[in-house]
Amino acid sequence: MDKLAKKVVLITGASRGIGKAISVHLADKGATLALTSRNQANLDELQAELTDCGVSVKTYAADVTDFQEAKSIVKDCESTLGPIDVLINNAGISGPNGNVLEQDFEELWKTMEVNVRGPMAYMQAALPSMLRRNAGIVINMGSYSSVHPFPGAATYSASKAALARYTDSVQATLKGSSVQIFTVSPGLVETDMTKDAPFVKDIPKEFWSPIEAISRLVEKLAGGKYASLKGRFIHVKDDIDELA
Ligand code: NDP
Repeated sequence: MDKLAKKVVLITGASRGIGKAISVHLADKGATLALTSRNQANLDELQAELTDCGVSVKTYAADVTDFQEAKSIVKDCESTLGPIDVLINNAGISGPNGNVLEQDFEELWKTMEVNVRGPMAYMQAALPSMLRRNAGIVINMGSYSSVHPFPGAATYSASKAALARYTDSVQATLKGSSVQIFTVSPGLVETDMTKDAPFVKDIPKEFWSPIEAISRLVEKLAGGKYASLKGRFIHVKDDIDELA
């Protein structure tokens, strides 16, 4: 039987792009899914598709920056589907691209809110139960831009660097616990996020990641076999078996 069969996986930002691809991939492995995004219609469509394949799915329309919503989603998910085995903090935005000094400050800060506050809210909501059970896996969606400066993506890069440091610091704080927390770092991916971003057009092919490779890496981490990599920042291109 597949390692993920009947495991309860909560995925934020599941309605489109990478989150949707991961949802479809993990559904195919038999996972029970709790999916969030702000768009209920998109979630309904995905739920119908996945339910047809025989998978249990619950959806929640919510903004990741709302901590009260994060707490009630985690609570509802645990009481209806069961304890959360895997939390995937995927929801994110690129924010305004270009010269930061010419952009609206509140717009820039929104990127920090969604990309940092969002994952923090869901970790804060889900970790207590994981710690009580001494089991659980958290996968935070980082970005290669947090270690490689792409011109025009300063705030986005800063948000993903902050998330990566938050991730490994929380893991260090949980020393001795079996809970595993990772940052997965894709290169650029063809999704709504990148389709209109002006700075991406000159970025060479070596900086791009296939969406299927991200899903496969997430599946491996969610399967629980890579505890030795706890707290790590893992590029999608890394050979995970070699790292472990
Ligand atoms: P998309 O723009 O295609 O999808 C973003 C997802 O996040 C959607 O499901 C969207 O749903 C959801 N979302 C956005 N804001 C919020 C919010 N405030 N509350 C709840 N959900 C929200 O992006 P990608 O699939 O490309 O990106 C997914 C993740 O991968 C992000 O964290 C991104 O930073 C990261 N990443 C992307 C790369 C790329 O090149 N595309 C490269 C490296 C990392 P809805 O709009 O329905 O709310």
